[in-house]
Amino acid sequence: MERIYNFSAGPAVLPREVLEQASDELMNWNGCGMSVMEMSHRGKEFGSILETAEADLRMLMAIPDNYRILFLQGGATLQFAQVPLNLLGGGSADYIVTGDWSKKAYKEAQRYGSIRLVANTEADGFTSFPDWPDLDLDRNAAYLHLCTNETIRGVEVLDFDTLPQGVPLVADMSSHILSRPMDVSRFGLIYAGAQKNVGPPGICLVIVREDLLGKVAPGTPTLLDYAIQAENHSMLNTPPTFAIYMAGLVFKWLLRLGGLDAMERINTEKARLLYGLIEGSGFYHNPVQPAHRSRMNVPFTLREPKLDETFIAEAKRHGIVQIKGHKSVGGMRASIYNAMPVEGVATLVNYMKEFEKAHG
Ligand code: PMP
Repeated sequence: MERIYNFSAGPAVLPREVLEQASDELMNWNGCGMSVMEMSHRGKEFGSILETAEADLRMLMAIPDNYRILFLQGGATLQFAQVPLNLLGGGSADYIVTGDWSKKAYKEAQRYGSIRLVANTEADGFTSFPDWPDLDLDRNAAYLHLCTNETIRGVEVLDFDTLPQGVPLVADMSSHILSRPMDVSRFGLIYAGAQKNVGPPGICLVIVREDLLGKVAPGTPTLLDYAIQAENHSMLNTPPTFAIYMAGLVFKWLLRLGGLDAMERINTEKARLLYGLIEGSGFYHNPVQPAHRSRMNVPFTLREPKLDETFIAEAKRHGIVQIKGHKSVGGMRASIYNAMPVEGVATLVNYMKEFEKAHG
């Protein structure tokens, strides 16, 4: 059976080569006579899978030696709590709200200490990022939290050079990690749920600068203590072994492709194709300010909302699925993560042109 083009925001499309390799190795990983799902997480086979995945990720993202890499559970959502529990240290933190996910992070953090809201773009419909120089930032904050790619509204920080310095930055990068080279040293902590650019659901990557560890709030469950997780190589308890193995295959795939520079070129091309069509059309519309349009999640509306259902049904006949926008926004959303090939986006763009001709 041929595969279809899956534009889901997550769990999302995985690279075909990765799925093929996992399928080949499913019954018998590396001659050991069993699947990765069946082996002991304490055995040398899984030990090598975890170690290789970590080393490959370090290479791909050029993660400096003073950062620890953790493969945790509870998704990015648990990080909304785990970050303040570990980093506040009795102090306060600043939060920037630029979409649904950073808003959730801000709300959750308030349960654990003193949290200041320093910017909120909700009044303009979450279609931009604030100008940093205008913000009243606390120079003594334990950290400043932001979401660098808002998955639902399709708003992305494309230029990290514009980010403020001085206070450790904590970034939710769930929906654009690994989409391009990123200077990790600009951040105190990066977290990302896996089910978009990293692998299947089940793990959340945390990349944390060592000097920020060791300030965990009293009463925090042991499993949620970054420092203890780091000491135990993310194996304090049974980790989601198969998800980590799959992430490792994705890292190898990215390395074979030429790393994140190569990935960025492909992602830029895909975004250019899709935004090019939307901008040149009076029929499709994307509300986000051009400088902040996400290269990963592209929401758009049709001129007539009553055409939405027809658009989705006909898309399916063209082999295009999971294109419906988030329920809070409506319209459509095409998530064009790393594993979505250029041909997938070209197929979508051609379909959109045809649809406009027929219904515009
Ligand atoms: N942050 C962002 C930016 C997301 O896109 C998502 C999930 N779509 C989350 C957090 C929550 O992730 P999870 O479901 O892994 O908890």
